[in-house]
Amino acid sequence: MTSKPQTHVVIVSSPGVGHLVCDLELGNRLVADHNVHVTFFVVVESNSSAGESDLIQSARTQKLLDIIELPPVDISDKVEPNSPIFTRLTTIMRETNPILRSAISSLNPSPTALFVDIFGTPALDVADEFHMLKYVFVTSALPLALILYVPVLDKEVEGEYVVQKEPLRLPGCMPVRPADVVDPLLNRTKLEYRVFLQVGLEMRQSDGVLVNTWEDLDTTTLKAMREQEGYGSLAVYAVGPLVRPVKPSGLKCKLLDWLDEQPVESVIYISFGSAGVLSAQQITELAWGLELSRKSFIWVLRPPIKDKGGNALDYLPDGFLERTHNLGLVVTQWAPQSEILGHKSIGGFLSHCGWNSSLESILNGVPMIAWPLYAEQKMNATMLAEELGVAVRPKIAPTKGIVGREEIEMMVRKVMGDQEGMAMRARVKELKDSGEKACAEGGSSFNALTQLVKQCEMNLQRQKVK
Ligand code: UDP
Repeated sequence: MTSKPQTHVVIVSSPGVGHLVCDLELGNRLVADHNVHVTFFVVVESNSSAGESDLIQSARTQKLLDIIELPPVDISDKVEPNSPIFTRLTTIMRETNPILRSAISSLNPSPTALFVDIFGTPALDVADEFHMLKYVFVTSALPLALILYVPVLDKEVEGEYVVQKEPLRLPGCMPVRPADVVDPLLNRTKLEYRVFLQVGLEMRQSDGVLVNTWEDLDTTTLKAMREQEGYGSLAVYAVGPLVRPVKPSGLKCKLLDWLDEQPVESVIYISFGSAGVLSAQQITELAWGLELSRKSFIWVLRPPIKDKGGNALDYLPDGFLERTHNLGLVVTQWAPQSEILGHKSIGGFLSHCGWNSSLESILNGVPMIAWPLYAEQKMNATMLAEELGVAVRPKIAPTKGIVGREEIEMMVRKVMGDQEGMAMRARVKELKDSGEKACAEGGSSFNALTQLVKQCEMNLQRQKVK
C-alpha cells in the first residue's frame, strides 16, 4: 500500500511578535493535528526584539516546523525611517519577494500553499508563480471585515472616518464607532491609508482568509463576511483560538516563584504588549491607582516613547517600589506572559487588547481591564467590554487623555472581585470552554483546518498534472 504524500505548505511571518506568535501556532497545529509538512519563513528586521528571538528559539526546540530566517532587506530608500507600521512592514515584505521566490524554488517537495499574515499580502504574487494556493491569516474578525470593506467605504463615505456622526456600517456586522477605527484609517490623506486599502484589495485575490477566532465567538461577523456583499466573496476560515501553550516543562523564574506564593486569583497582571507604552504622567497615575487598590500586581513597565531605551523605573512615583514591595513586582524585561496568565494566582489582566493577549486572557479564564492603545485594539476593546462582557474599560479613551488614579483603583477592584467582576469571570470561563472545544478534534476550528488541508491536497494533485 502506498502512503499518501505529505502535504507541504509555506508560512511566511512578517516582522513583529504579534504575528509571529500566532503564525507559529498555526504552523504547529497544521503539523501536529493535520500531518502537514510546514516550512516556516520568518522575515526579520535588523533590530528584531528579544521577544522574537525567544519565540523562534523555543519553536526550533519543539522541532515541529522547518524554520528558515530570511535576511533583513534594506528599505531605507523606499520609506521614511519612522513610517507607520503598515507602510513599513508591507514595504519590507514587498522587497523580500525576490528572496522568498528563490527560497521557495529550492524547496523539495514543492509546496502547495502559501500562508501570509496581514502584512504579507505582497507575497501572494509569488504564490501564483509556483501555482500555490494562497491564504491570508488575520487576527480578529471585525477588523478583518473592516479591511475587506474599506474599498467600499472609500467610495461611499465623505470626509474623515473619525469625524463621522454615525457609526460606520459594515453589512451584517456590528457598526464600528468612528472613534474605534484602526490606525491607518485615522487620516485618509496619508500614505498609510492607501497602503491599507491596497492590502484590502490584495487580500481579495487570495483563496481565502483565516481568522484567529472561532465560530461561536464571532458568529455574526463571520456570517456577514461569508454571505453579504462588499467583502470580496472570500472563503473565511475561523481557525482559532490559536495561542501559545503554557510551557509544559514548567519554566522557572523569580516571577513565577513569587506567583506560587500568592493566593488563587489574587494578582492583577499589567502589560501593554510588545510595543505599547504610556506617557510619563500616565505611568504615575497607574502606579498610584495600583497602590490605592491594595491589590497584588505584576506590572510589565516600559519607559515612555520619548525616552526609548531609558530606565522605566525612573518614571515611578518616589518611594513606589519600597511602599509596594510586599504587594507586587515591576518587570522591565520581556515577561513570560503565557506562563503568567496561565498561573492560578492571576485574577485579572490590565491589557492593551492586542488580539494575542486578549485570547491568552480568555483561554486562561482571566477577566480584563481594556486599555487599548494602537492598531485595531480599540475595536477589540469594544468587543471585549460591550459585546462579550469580559472587560471593563476607562471612561476616557487612554489615547485621548489621562486615566486618573481613582478610576484605575476602582477598575482594579472591580475586575479583581466585586459583583460585576465575578460576572465577568464567570463569562470569561464560559468563553474559555467554548474556545477549547472549537480547537479540539471535531470542533469548528479543527474542522476548518481539516477543510483547508483538503484544499491543499487537491492542489497538490493539480500541480502534478501541470
Ligand atoms: N508578550 C510576552 N511578554 C511581554 C510582552 C508580550 O510574552 O513582555 C507576548 C504576549 O503574550 C503576546 C504577544 O507578545 O503573545 C503580543 O501580542 P499582542 O497581539 O497581544 O500584542 P502586540 O504586541 O502585537 O501589540
